Amino acid sequence: MSKKIIKILLFLLISLFLIISLLEFFSKRCKTQNQSYASVCTEVLKKHDLYGSYNGVKDDVPINDVLSNHVFYVDRNEIGSTNGIACWFHGYAFVANDMPKAATSYVALHEALHLKYFTYSETKVNYMAGKEVPFGLLQTVFDSLARGTSSIEKKGIPCYLGGVWRNFKLYFLNME
Ligand SMILES: [Zn+2]
Repeated sequence: MSKKIIKILLFLLISLFLIISLLEFFSKRCKTQNQSYASVCTEVLKKHDLYGSYNGVKDDVPINDVLSNHVFYVDRNEIGSTNGIACWFHGYAFVANDMPKAATSYVALHEALHLKYFTYSETKVNYMAGKEVPFGLLQTVFDSLARGTSSIEKKGIPCYLGGVWRNFKLYFLNME
């Protein structure tokens, strides 16, 4: 390899390292105080009269049955402003009803898979659903990025970028 190429590679490597360090720093500093998973589930289950009714999904239930019988479409503010949540202990999942069509199908399948395979990681479920509904995964990513930009004014760009990085690690790299 010529010296020039080595220099360029080194430069790219150092830049990448610096960018990732900065994103890590942002994401650690800007931890959002989201409502806890348990309290979101309790509230939304109560609101839809499902609290106290245990309807856990058995392994042999076909995924389409999970989708039609265990997944509900609700206002985003009922589920802590996330795209979806799987309250697997009760056997119900909730999906925000304000996303484009393919994104909605993707998130619904993602949450249904959480119910069926509750030990699987976020990343595994993400790729499983993405294989079935690839365009939905893409649409969800862009929809979430666009939705996030409305919070830039409130949180600032560093915290927005930190949040994007945190989600990228969680959904694609199996890192929390
Ligand atoms: Zn998930």
